[in-house]
Amino acid sequence: MAAEKRVTVQDNNSGRLFPCGLRTTGTLLLTILLCVTLAGVLPAAWAGDSNDFVKKRRQMVDRQIKGRGIVDQATLRAMVTVPRHLFVPDYLQRQAYMDGPLPIGHGQTISQPYIVAYMTEILHIKPQHRVLEIGTGSGYQAAVLAELTDQVYTMEIIPELADSAGKRLKRIGYSSVNVRQGDGYHGWPEGAPFDGIMVTAAAEFIPPPLLQQLGEGGRMIIPVGSPFYVQHLMLVEKKQGKITTRSLMLVRFVPFRRSP
Ligand code: SAH
Repeated sequence: MAAEKRVTVQDNNSGRLFPCGLRTTGTLLLTILLCVTLAGVLPAAWAGDSNDFVKKRRQMVDRQIKGRGIVDQATLRAMVTVPRHLFVPDYLQRQAYMDGPLPIGHGQTISQPYIVAYMTEILHIKPQHRVLEIGTGSGYQAAVLAELTDQVYTMEIIPELADSAGKRLKRIGYSSVNVRQGDGYHGWPEGAPFDGIMVTAAAEFIPPPLLQQLGEGGRMIIPVGSPFYVQHLMLVEKKQGKITTRSLMLVRFVPFRRSP
């Protein structure tokens, strides 16, 4: 019955459909369908997301992240949720879900999606945890962390990046993230102790203040090594006050800078 009515409406060319407006009883079914479809699409579109980006993001998670062995459900959910294309420059939005890092200005890069997921999973973040990130960059990694806990602190040494990332995070809806401009070498003493610390720039050694600010049972992930070559991605753990470190893989990050 419904299908017949729809054909009649089209054959008669009895008037165009206006979203959510009823013209005739014959258009009722079509109108309801259209309204339901729009209701599903519009909120995502208003947020700067779209079905196309959602699809690319799911593919990114399936192929690059699950496909390489990331299993933590909260991490996978976060990677599916955060609109990575809104954290890269406009001209690179179509490349945001590709398998690699991308430039974000000031000679810095947003990390490859897999590395973001790997470093997130390894911190074992629980909703009640407090996490510090050094190297805010675009704010993307901070947003991923904010999907796991409401207590995210992130520091960026380049003032312009700190400023734009702070505004971007608010605009996209991650207003709980605390952003501070400054040299992350000194950490964020007022926020300590942290259950997790993530450093997203290559340091020649582990900054002692960060070790101090790591809480009991806490985990830190940090690339350590020569800033212009490859580095060891190190997992640092603090148990009963004792620090242990272990190298997980070789990586290449932008250099950890120091303020003069
Ligand atoms: N996590 C970022 C990308 C990191 S790129 C993202 O998701 O986009 C590394 C960032 O670390 C750069 O923005 C760089 O300026 C910053 N950085 C380097 N040394 C730093 C330091 N000592 N303190 C804080 N930020 C630092």
